[in-house]
Amino acid sequence: MKVVILPGDGIGPEVCETAVTVLRAACASSNIALDTEEHAFGGAAIDQYGDPLPPATLEACLGADAVLLGAVGGPRYDEAAKKGAPRPEAGLLALRREMGLFANLRPSRLFEGLEEASPLRKSVVADTDILVVRELTGGLYFGEREEGSDRALDRLPYSREEVERVARTAFEAARGRKGLLTSVDKANVLATSRLWRGVVEDVHKSYPDVRLEHVLVDAMAMHLVTHPSRFDVVVTENLFGDILSDELSAVVGSIGLAPSASLGEAGKPGLYEPIHGSAPDIAGLGIANPIGAILSAAMLLRHSAGEETAAASIEAAVAWCLADGLRTHDLGGSASTKDALDAVLSAL
Ligand code: ATP
Ligand code: MG
Repeated sequence: MKVVILPGDGIGPEVCETAVTVLRAACASSNIALDTEEHAFGGAAIDQYGDPLPPATLEACLGADAVLLGAVGGPRYDEAAKKGAPRPEAGLLALRREMGLFANLRPSRLFEGLEEASPLRKSVVADTDILVVRELTGGLYFGEREEGSDRALDRLPYSREEVERVARTAFEAARGRKGLLTSVDKANVLATSRLWRGVVEDVHKSYPDVRLEHVLVDAMAMHLVTHPSRFDVVVTENLFGDILSDELSAVVGSIGLAPSASLGEAGKPGLYEPIHGSAPDIAGLGIANPIGAILSAAMLLRHSAGEETAAASIEAAVAWCLADGLRTHDLGGSASTKDALDAVLSAL
């Protein structure tokens, strides 16, 4: 298996290196051949090549089985962008588009022992285990923009095909879990949501074993803090998914724990990254929580290599360490990135 590593900026290189070390160990013990290749991306690539997504990086990603990314961006690049420099984040949007990634999988579960890290009461948050499947190519993010002095416009386009393919990903995921799919929209207001709802119902005909429900996004924002444990898989459009999955990462503890996978057509490479950003405030201190990145490597093994056993072994090692009291500073503890790595390796 060929994996392209994009360390990126801020804490990206620290958490990425940690995740690669765990990935190597898991592959070695399961006899999975692993070939890694590191490339410049984001702000680091702007510094080196003046381009957040250099052609050599893009070519390597398209030719790999999977891509593991740290994080991109930082205040230095935000400042430079005001004077016309390219933005690191533009590299990420271009990479997602070029790789044809349309489904962003963001699992959020409450790990044993982390009840006190949640802002919710233990009785409310207990047993929370939700997979958000966020549509990644449509919605407000890629709309045409008209920017005048006193008027601005963002469009929210969706096609049947775009909704169908992400709905299939979500139904497949629900089939492998508790069998409940919650489709989140704003069908009482948005035309795209009414299209969305109809298409999801059509796709449901091929998955009669999965229970489907529709929930409006405003109600969903409320349910996630009042009854998070009643949900299983949630499928929704780009912006709703962005907002709801950040809400959920806080519900189950720290943003430093949350992994993600971005998938395209079957057989094409996937992109795996922790959901947190480059965390410039703690970059270089060796205290970043690497668990989001480590769990992203587990998702890589599951979705891009079909190595369920190796993926589950990494997840079990992380769960064991957290239950055993491993706490980085974001979880109120004093464990360093290296301490977390050593703990996960020995549990593995
Ligand atoms: P972006 O715009 O890229 O999302 P951001 O500044 O909005 O970046 P993060 O970089 O995710 O958001 O940081 C938000 C806060 O969470 C910061 O205080 C950061 O230190 C903290 N944080 C993020 N990731 C981690 C991590 N892996 N370990 C510890 N703290 C983290
Ligand atoms: Mg952010």
